Order: sequence, then C-alpha cells, then structure tokens
Amino acid sequence: MLIKICGITSPEVALTTAIGGADYIGLLFSDISPRKVTIEQAKAVAQAAHVGGAKVVAVFVDEELAAINNILKQVAIDIIQLHGPVVKQYLTQLDRNYPIIYVADNNEIQPSLDRFKDFLLYENIALPSKIDFRYFIAGGISKENVIARINASNCIGVDLSSSLELTKGIKDITKILEFIKLIRPERFGRFGGRYVPELLIPPILQLQQAYETIGQSLEFRNELNLLLKNNVGRPTALTEVVNFAKALNTKVRIFLKREDLLHTGAHKINNALGQCLLAKKFGKTRIIAETGAGQHGVATATACSMLGLDCVIYMGQVDIVRQAPNVAKMKLLGAKVVSVESGSATLKDAVNEALRDWAESYDNTHYCLGSALGPHPFPTMVADFQKIIGIEAKQQFKEVIGQLPYAVIACVGGGSNAIGIFGAFIENVAVKLIGVEAGGTSLKLGGNASRFSAGKPGVLHGNYTYLLQTEDGQIANTHSISAGLDYAAVGPQHAYLHELQRAQYSNATDQEALEAFLLLTKTEGIIPALESSHALAYVVKNIQQFPQDSAILINLSGRGDKDLPSLLNGELSYVTNS
Ligand SMILES: *Cc1c(COP(=O)(O)O)cnc(C)c1O
Repeated sequence: MLIKICGITSPEVALTTAIGGADYIGLLFSDISPRKVTIEQAKAVAQAAHVGGAKVVAVFVDEELAAINNILKQVAIDIIQLHGPVVKQYLTQLDRNYPIIYVADNNEIQPSLDRFKDFLLYENIALPSKIDFRYFIAGGISKENVIARINASNCIGVDLSSSLELTKGIKDITKILEFIKLIRPERFGRFGGRYVPELLIPPILQLQQAYETIGQSLEFRNELNLLLKNNVGRPTALTEVVNFAKALNTKVRIFLKREDLLHTGAHKINNALGQCLLAKKFGKTRIIAETGAGQHGVATATACSMLGLDCVIYMGQVDIVRQAPNVAKMKLLGAKVVSVESGSATLKDAVNEALRDWAESYDNTHYCLGSALGPHPFPTMVADFQKIIGIEAKQQFKEVIGQLPYAVIACVGGGSNAIGIFGAFIENVAVKLIGVEAGGTSLKLGGNASRFSAGKPGVLHGNYTYLLQTEDGQIANTHSISAGLDYAAVGPQHAYLHELQRAQYSNATDQEALEAFLLLTKTEGIIPALESSHALAYVVKNIQQFPQDSAILINLSGRGDKDLPSLLNGELSYVTNS
C-alpha cells in the first residue's frame, strides 16, 4: 500500500514523514490552499523528502502552463498531480518524463493516460465498478475508517492531508507516524516487512492473528505476568553502582537494570516465556527455536518445561562444540538439540533450518524466534514481551531519583534487550537512547558485528534492515567476543530509530568489553555477560560526555557465568594459571 502525504510545508516534517515510511510527499502550489508553499520552501521540502527516501509530487490546481514549467525547472519534482479542468487541458503539453497523478472527476473517471507510468486519484467520488488502472483513494479518510476503505477497494495507495493536522494547514508529526503504522503495521519506516517464501505465510498470519487477539487479552497478560513474577523473578532490581562510578572518577550516577538476576540468567526468558505461553493458548504442543550461543535455546527449553510443551532446538554444529554447557542444559531440560551442518554451521544456518521445519509443522508447532527480528509480527511481538524491562526501570527511576534518566544504554545483538528497555522511553524525547554494537577486533568487514557502521540495508531472515554484507550482497562473516552480539543483521526497529536519529548507535571492541567486564566484577561483585559488558564499556569510554549531575541507566542484559569457561581458556587464562 503506497502512502502519499499531501500539503507538507516544512522540511523537518518532510524528513520525518519520509523516514517514517511515506512514499510520496505532496507540495501544494495553489494560491487558495492554506498549505501553499513558495518556491524556496518547496526546494527545501523536496530536498528533505529525498533525503528521507520519498518522492516529491507537485500538486497543481488551475495553474498556468508557464508557471508550472517554471516550478518544474526550479524544484526537484518527481511526479505531477493535476486538479481541475484548467490544468488538465495542458496534459499533452506537459513534459511527459514526469509521471502524472490525474485526479478523476465525475465527467472523466478513466481518462487516457499512460497506464504503466501514471496514476489516478479518486477523491471523494464514488469509485467506478471496474478500474483497470493504478489508483489512490483520498478524501474523508480517518484513523477509524482507513483500513476498511483500503480493504473495500483495489487501490494501490492512500492520499492523506487534513486528517493529519491539529490546526488547519499545520501537519502533526505524531499523527502522521500513527497513520503510517496503522496502514503498514509490518513496517518501521522502510524497514521490517515480511520477506518470506509463500509456504511460511500461513503460519505467520496465524501467529499474527493469535498475537493480536489472545496476546492482547487481559487474561493472557495476567497469566504471563504471574509466571514472570513467581517463576522468573520479576521485577528485577535497579542497582546504583557507586564503586564502579568512583573507579571512573565521575559524579554521574550510574544505574543498572538487573536482567542478570532473572531465572536462566538473562532477559531472553521474558520473550521465550511470552511466546511459548501464547503458542500454548492457541493450541500448539511443540516449540522449535534457533540458538547461537545456546542462551535462547536454554530459555526456550526452560519455558517449555514450565508449560509442558515439546521442544526442539536448532543449533549449528560449530556452536554445539563451542557451547557444550548450554547444550547439556537444554538436554537436561528435555529439549531435543538438532545439529545443523549446512553453510557455516552457525546461527544463521540454524535459523534457516528452523524456518524449514516450521513450514511443514505449523499445524502443531510454533517457532519461538529469539530476538526482535525476522518477519512481522516477530519484531513487534518480541519488543512487546521485552518492554517490561523499560516499564519497570522507568517506574523505579522515578521512585529512586524522581526523574527520568539522562540516557539509556544497552548492547545490541538482534536488538531485543535494547528495544525492550528503549521501548518505554521512546516517547520521552529528552532521554538519549544509545545502542552499543560489537566492535570486535577491527572495524573492517568480518572483524566485528557493527551493522550501523559497516553495514547497509538489505534482507535477511524475513526482514529488511541494516546488514553486514559483501560488495555483491552476500552475508558477511562477523566477529565478536560475545556470541550474543555476533550476528550480521539487526532488528528493523533499530534501523528505523537510527534513521530517525531517535537512537544513536556506537560500538565497543572485544578488548574494551573485557576491561569493563573486569571492572564491574571487581568493583561491584557483579559478573556481567560479555554482551552486557559492551554497554558498560561504552559508558567507561564516554563518561565525559554525560553531565556531572546526571543519572544514566544501563541495561545489564545478563550474567557472565556462561562466559567463564571460554574466558578462562583464553583471555583470562592467567586466573587459572596463577
Ligand atoms: C542474546 C543476548 C544478547 C543479545 O541479544 P539482543 O536480542 O540484542 O538482546 C544480549 N545480552 C545477553 C546476556 C544475551 O544473552
């Protein structure tokens, strides 16, 4: 469904609208409109729209041909829209390199246009029964009726204007973004989507339906919250790390959200339990999941034990060897671990194999995906199950210091712990959101998992997002000291927040993460996961950037016990040798 937003007069609004996912931005040149732009304004709006990835439509009502040509010469226009009998008479004289949006009226419902290039727009008139042309609908579209209006017609797009304003002529960006999300719930701006083979559409639609009904019911939420409280250990503590701050020689108050204290040792159980409970409620008896380091496998196997569900975990053969303790745990918990030998025999191959299983087994099986990625509805659903982290932390922060944090910092693998804590603060625009990726051993492709510094947009595992890829679009190799951050793609909502500049993304190297790991352990008696240590490392590196009287919040996504075997064999071998 194409989205055209008409009557934008400011470059800031144009940029956000374009990044928000609008395909076309309309500039009005008619004297009678309160949304009329001058040539100078039009230039600035068009430039901003293009930066955000939208096309620019010049809308003409009863304009002289010379004036139209003058505007086309000066402003970077992509498409011309024609209203009223005066301009329409110029149709044959206009530069036909521009596609045209022709506003149909009752006398001329289907004019002769180039059907491969042009569009019709039906504004407030009864649609003809047969339309063999690409067309937009417009007029009287509201939040309440937009979906019904789209569904009732074969239109390819909607054109919105006054319904997105609070006062006449002034667009409201919150309303614009709300509308776009309503029309295209599977997207975060241009990111996200549902790029899957046809075989996977039925289970995905079934899941979406279950999530939107059962998943939103009070009964389900109450049951999930009770399990999180009694079996998992929510709410988790908010801990101020005074000694750690002292070691950094700062007055900044540093708080940790202690997801490391959860049952199974990390935030992943929030999502695994949410999905498994939902699956059980909509009649599934078998759960499959992918796992890299084994953390999501253990969380899923644990949730299945709690809920009495069969569990099969797909894991790359290379990872099975590297992560023997987690493999043993999964087996103890009653899960079957399937070794994946294809490709590089690591995480991305395990995802492929799990998707293959799901396409054949969805009658009784749910695929419990481990991070805020994959095809819609996974990124939205996983973020929703993880949002409890941010909701609790926000409340705790208000109780402890009476205000919101200056910044919220989290490590970003697929992005679930980060989006979970960010989720509650996105609306508070003064709160800085900082995601920290794996800087690995080098910033060259293959030496890290920094999708935002070394990657570009592409499709992997069902969604369009930032990806580490080679020149010719193959998925690149990645490296990180922490298995949980070692993935070529990032959740699509992070790609969107990055483009909107609502969140900023940075990275920490293996070495920096390791130093932060040691510092927290020594000063506070908290052994953090190596993943979470990246968020700590960002703070260590950038402590000067925070005002001295500020308080910041770090998501401590997990505990580091799982990392000790490999650390003691490698970087920390001196501990066992001395
Ligand atoms: C898996 C994992 C991560 C990375 O996954 P996200 O989806 O980005 O949160 C981070 N921290 C810990 C402790 C993990 O186990």
